[in-house]
Amino acid sequence: GTYVFDFAEGDRDQKDLLGGKGANLAEMTNLGLPVPPGFTISTEACRAYLKEGDNPAGLAEEVSAHLASLEEKMGRRLGDPADPLLVSVRSGAKFSMPGMMETVLNIGLNDESIQGLAQQSDDERFALDSYRRLLSMFGGTVLGIHGEHFSEALDDLKEQKGTVEDLDLDVEDLRGLVETFKGIIREHAGREFPQDPREQMDLAVKAVFDSWNTDRAVLYRRQERIPEDLGTAVNIQAMVFGNRGMTSGSGVCFTRDPASGNQGEYGDYLQNAQGEDVVAGIRNTVSLADMEKIDKKSHDELLAIMTKLEAHYHDMCDIEFTVEQGKLWMLQTRVGKRTPEAAFRIAVHMADEGLIDMDEALRRVTGEQLANLMFPRFDTHAERTLLAKGMNASPGAAVGKAVFDWATAVEWAENGEDVILVRKETTPEDLHGMMVARGVLTSRGGKTSHAAVVARGMGRTCVCGAEALDVDTREGEFTVRGGKTIREGDVISIDGSTGEVFDGAVPVVDSFVVRYFEGETLDEPIVEAVSRLMAHADAARRLKVRTNADTAEDAGRARKFGAQGIGLCRTEHMFLGDRRGLVENLIVAESEEEQEKALDELLPLQRADFGEIFEAMDGLPVTIRMIDPPLHEFLPDITELSVAMAVADVRGHRKKRQRKLLAAVQRLHESNPMLGLRGVRLGIVIPGLFVMQARAILEAAAARIRAGGRAEPEIMIPLVASVRELDLVRDKIMKVAREVQDAEGVEVPFLVGTMIELPRAALTADQIAGSAQFFSFGTNDLTQMTWGFSRDDVEASFFSNYLEQGVFPVSPFESLDVEGVGALVRKAVELGRGARPDLKLGVCGEHGGDPRSVHFFDEVGLDYVSCSPFRVPVARLEAGRSAI
Ligand code: ADP
Ligand code: MG
Ligand code: MG
Repeated sequence: GTYVFDFAEGDRDQKDLLGGKGANLAEMTNLGLPVPPGFTISTEACRAYLKEGDNPAGLAEEVSAHLASLEEKMGRRLGDPADPLLVSVRSGAKFSMPGMMETVLNIGLNDESIQGLAQQSDDERFALDSYRRLLSMFGGTVLGIHGEHFSEALDDLKEQKGTVEDLDLDVEDLRGLVETFKGIIREHAGREFPQDPREQMDLAVKAVFDSWNTDRAVLYRRQERIPEDLGTAVNIQAMVFGNRGMTSGSGVCFTRDPASGNQGEYGDYLQNAQGEDVVAGIRNTVSLADMEKIDKKSHDELLAIMTKLEAHYHDMCDIEFTVEQGKLWMLQTRVGKRTPEAAFRIAVHMADEGLIDMDEALRRVTGEQLANLMFPRFDTHAERTLLAKGMNASPGAAVGKAVFDWATAVEWAENGEDVILVRKETTPEDLHGMMVARGVLTSRGGKTSHAAVVARGMGRTCVCGAEALDVDTREGEFTVRGGKTIREGDVISIDGSTGEVFDGAVPVVDSFVVRYFEGETLDEPIVEAVSRLMAHADAARRLKVRTNADTAEDAGRARKFGAQGIGLCRTEHMFLGDRRGLVENLIVAESEEEQEKALDELLPLQRADFGEIFEAMDGLPVTIRMIDPPLHEFLPDITELSVAMAVADVRGHRKKRQRKLLAAVQRLHESNPMLGLRGVRLGIVIPGLFVMQARAILEAAAARIRAGGRAEPEIMIPLVASVRELDLVRDKIMKVAREVQDAEGVEVPFLVGTMIELPRAALTADQIAGSAQFFSFGTNDLTQMTWGFSRDDVEASFFSNYLEQGVFPVSPFESLDVEGVGALVRKAVELGRGARPDLKLGVCGEHGGDPRSVHFFDEVGLDYVSCSPFRVPVARLEAGRSAI
């Protein structure tokens, strides 16, 4: 066919054409499993329909032909008054998409064919039950009537009957309900329920097509980055009936536990029910073990099929099935979604069972999942009261008092309170509040909303789009739909990994995985799975992983996490705190002598800092960056200083020091400090500064070596644009290196290299490599400078807008922009290695810990990536995945 395919014609690889559901129905059909026959109208037909606003030519005929052969196979005609064939019309896009029209069951029933169904089945109640379901589903999804009209009518009826059970409704009740439902359709859709079976079917197909463009579906695609132009397929399938008495039923199951990854089947079964009852939670379902007691034959057959499907898909499957009077039917399967814990455990179990090899097991887990497992988490054994569930926008487990505006957040946080900022949605104005809050909770917006983007950027826990919450920021409270009200100051807990919002303070516990990395021996299943996959990744990877660490403590922790050295040790924090005064002395120095004196005072402090770091990283390379930020960052704020001086003036004792400081602040003031006097530029303008730092590094290294240790410093010059800049500071560093080594009487194996973080440096990397023994790509600045984005401003101001409008699918600060910034990296690698084949190459931007970016850096041939200590295991895993 052109647009329509029998289930027997397709296979699981045809998701583009047949949608996920259709492709897998075809696969199961061809595996010989008991699938009710049917056919799939392709996504191509949907695309044509959406483009033309009408069915493409020939579609109706093709559908007729397939329907005719289905009728022949089943020995019944659609809606035949004497003995009707009934079908389901089921949507099914390539990716499963909540927010689209789902499914209409029992199509083909009308006022006449219901008699036929009742007679043939000898069960009038069943026939009426099927009809009322058709009326409400059709009314709801095809005619767009609010589902509450139907459910309220049903509830009213049950109330009159004095029952809460659908099953207590008898033939008379259902006959009345059918009439009530028809009345609801008449009233709210302004038309009669269509009695013509084929019209029912055609309208349902169109409704599925149209549902591709509902607001909710569009929004969901945007959030999940599903392309807009795929369209959905429609499956038309002969009905089997789980609502035909107590020997029938419907269920869903997984071939393993999708939450824990435990081996062994897992599922829910509901007697005398059609599929939607199972998920809707109308009645209590029973476990598969209990199903065995009810219907052993179907149960055993189901288990055999589950084993067969796992063996066939080599993965955990989720399954929808129905039993009609003791006969099992398969209605859906797909590779099942799972939690991060389950992903790791299932991968390892399957390797042990021989279903997949370890390479494949490693492909099945991701760095993001590992990162998720490393967050502190809520104690699942603790008692918890779920208030609502939103989107898991930024992981973590946060507990705090609810506050509803940023000013209160700041005020309370300053008083030492833990707060959770609750908003409908956040705006740039909320930024301060987000910074001080433990977590952020919003009732609107998805994973690309302002709250989500900013929170992820800050590593702040965030749950967004918790739609069940009615947030009233003016009153300072939110109400859970149909439930509790939380007022300002009440404690709540939010889980950014699951999207759950809890009442009160849920206890938080350390992740097992982190405890394992830190050296604890734990007999936890997740630890075993993680350790085995990490070992496999480490054995497979070419790319080394270092850490960004400024202190011995961070270095030590990162080493436990598997860091193979430091890729970025920033020296600026070493100038803050008590040492601020010393830096001020340097800046306000009026003579070379004064400058020298200030530097002499800083030297021993720096030396001690480096000594500790070398000790923590003994035997591993340590890249230390010369001071990078604009100097005014070390000076007092200009307004505060002016005020202080004015006060001093009034009191008549204006101080010389203050006057000098103010002059320095004014002298150093820049409109664009990030483009100003910083990095190598400082080293050139205040030559003694870099020389002092180099001396401190080399003396500390020499001391370490003399003490029997090993130190491999790599001195890194930031913000170089031209080789001339590098040469100017490098000559001085080489000179001091000779002095130190002579004086100490030891050889220090050190390197001098540069950061590549300006486009000009990347484009002249061949020249720069002539003077640099290593490059480290500073991809934060390189992104900033390539896009012309001020990182400190743009993420909070307009990135959510850019993401929504598709300028980029993910912030280029979060995941490397491979096309633009990546092209510069590629070019610099090529030019640099051309000029100096043994050039050491690494990356030290935040991208070093981003899974997608790690694969790129591996591909372009860098020697290592460097990232924050907690991302080190993530980068190791991804480097392994990239290598297989
Ligand atoms: P969703 O994508 O929302 O899961 P489905 O198309 O899978 O929607 O339909 C939901 C449920 O409807 C199925 O799990 C199944 O129980 C029931 N169903 C669908 N088609 C049929 C059918 N031909 N016969 C019996 N039940 C069906
Ligand atoms: Mg389904
Ligand atoms: Mg930089």
